[in-house]
Amino acid sequence: MIPHWAVERRKMIEMQLRRRGIRDERILSAMEEIPREQFIPPEARLSAYEDGPVPIGFGQTISQPYMTALMAELLELTGGESVLEVGAGCGYAAAVLGKLAARVVAIEIVPALAETARENLERTGLGPNVSVICGDGSLGYPEGAPFDAISVAAGARDIPPALLAQLQDPGRLVMPVGDYADQELRVVAKRDGQIQSRVAALCRFVPLRGEGGF
Ligand code: SAH
Repeated sequence: MIPHWAVERRKMIEMQLRRRGIRDERILSAMEEIPREQFIPPEARLSAYEDGPVPIGFGQTISQPYMTALMAELLELTGGESVLEVGAGCGYAAAVLGKLAARVVAIEIVPALAETARENLERTGLGPNVSVICGDGSLGYPEGAPFDAISVAAGARDIPPALLAQLQDPGRLVMPVGDYADQELRVVAKRDGQIQSRVAALCRFVPLRGEGGF
């Protein structure tokens, strides 16, 4: 049977997001509009609306929908921001962020995934304000800095200093910090030159590679 994607998507919004406390209507409608199944390789497409991470090849995953929504919510975007996403994967979270902010730069270290993310964004028409760069995002993207918001979709022991340096003042960053297997989702707020950090959730992300990663 061919799944009715729009129905699956609405169920995901209701059961996985709204019921768990995601309140920002802009995020809920962005995720209701974006065809998540089109950001998932054909062989895993039937899992597109599952309540967990789904493999996308190269040992990587597309994050659980709730985690994508939570991270976007923690960034408190209002529409005018310039956003950096580290770890684009197949580009789904970048597409969501693109609906919530003015501009998104999404960096992906695996060349084939960066290419797939680019194709997915183009095919779904969500590309115009999202650029996908292939490179080591643990060093940020100095050419585009400063960023009003930074979302890191891979875990490391610490927040790479380059990312804090490229965060605008005021600005917000979310990132999983911990060991290889388990992390806490940190929310960092920069304001008046001061950094404040808190833990928003426990989480499990793939490891951040590159110079500022594992
Ligand atoms: N944002 C994705 C999640 C992708 S998983 C989503 O939409 O759900 C995290 C991704 O980070 C993987 O694709 C991995 O290859 C990438 N990654 C790991 N270390 C990186 C680094 N240093 N720079 C850029 N990307 C990195």
